[in-house]
Amino acid sequence: MSSIDPSIGPDRARALFRAELAEVRTDAELQALRTRWVGRKGSWVAAFMDALATAAPEIKKSLGRGANELKKEVEAAIAERGAALAATKRPANAVDITLPGRAPVLGHRHPLSLIRDEVIEIFTRLGYQVLEGPEVEDDYHNFEALNMPEEHPARDMQDTLYLQTPLMPSDPEMPGDLKGSPLHSAPPLTLLRTHTSAMQIRHMEKHAPPVRLVAIGPVYRRDNLDLTHTPMFHQVEGLVVGKGVTLADLKGTLSAMAEALFPSTRADGARSGQAADFIRFRPSFFPYTEPSAEVDIRCFKCKGQGCPLCKRTGWIEILGSGMVHPAVFEAVGYNSEEVTGFAFGMGVERVAQLKWGVDDIRLFYENDLRFLEQFGL
Ligand SMILES: [Zn+2]
Repeated sequence: MSSIDPSIGPDRARALFRAELAEVRTDAELQALRTRWVGRKGSWVAAFMDALATAAPEIKKSLGRGANELKKEVEAAIAERGAALAATKRPANAVDITLPGRAPVLGHRHPLSLIRDEVIEIFTRLGYQVLEGPEVEDDYHNFEALNMPEEHPARDMQDTLYLQTPLMPSDPEMPGDLKGSPLHSAPPLTLLRTHTSAMQIRHMEKHAPPVRLVAIGPVYRRDNLDLTHTPMFHQVEGLVVGKGVTLADLKGTLSAMAEALFPSTRADGARSGQAADFIRFRPSFFPYTEPSAEVDIRCFKCKGQGCPLCKRTGWIEILGSGMVHPAVFEAVGYNSEEVTGFAFGMGVERVAQLKWGVDDIRLFYENDLRFLEQFGL
């Protein structure tokens, strides 16, 4: 804005100032207006007073008074407008209710929880009881009762994480359901369970057959962290005991589970009319089952044609299983002449890796939201 002509008198100046003040909308505009009219240098008042210095003495006095009055008036008007502007301003931390809302971020279930819940749902539907148990165990339930006597290699320090100070039955940290265990006078807990099978023993000790249960939860092995190993992972184990339970029951149960867990395989099997053909048993060995079998499912990615996921075999190894060893029944007081049973165990991480094509098991434990947010709610 150009400077104001000092030759205009206070009356015209007043009218001009009022008109300019009416246009002011912001603090910055008000500040500029103040500088132009009453500032120390270059303002209308300053220029007018300079011009007055050379004016005739008879008009000097009245013009000077008029200018001074206008100056006071301008300052008062500016102060008033300044207060009015401040009153319309929002406080510094005020909420701007005109901003669009931010959508709340929904949490996701962890992929391993999704698999766990899915497995529980499948087996609950089949009439199974779901068990969770203590993560610290004694040698008896983790090994001995499962036909792994003292010299068994799985008990090696290389594979098993032992407690430096075993938990005694009187310890306050002793898990509640292990307190006062009637059998074996509640031996001290010495290790982190290497499988959920210990729960099978604990259940059978307390309950007569028939048994139909799944045990699910974290287990511990002395492994270093790499692409396919973690010292802690999750296992699902199933156990069925009763009169006349056979290998055919095991196969039927595992088929039903595989179909439910990997529906793309089921769809393919249904189309070709070979639904039963998408799991296969390979002979194997586990101390607590006889006979034992590794179970493969037909590769759901290539439908058995052969691809990198299934190492070109068309089959993917998914779990271990077998008919319960008579020695296990003996340990829990079941009569192996009267009842038979099957058991199976599988890694929850393994299922999640296969289902979603996750090639690094560590991703499940790194809490990286970019990874975790890719899974369902
Ligand atoms: Zn394949």
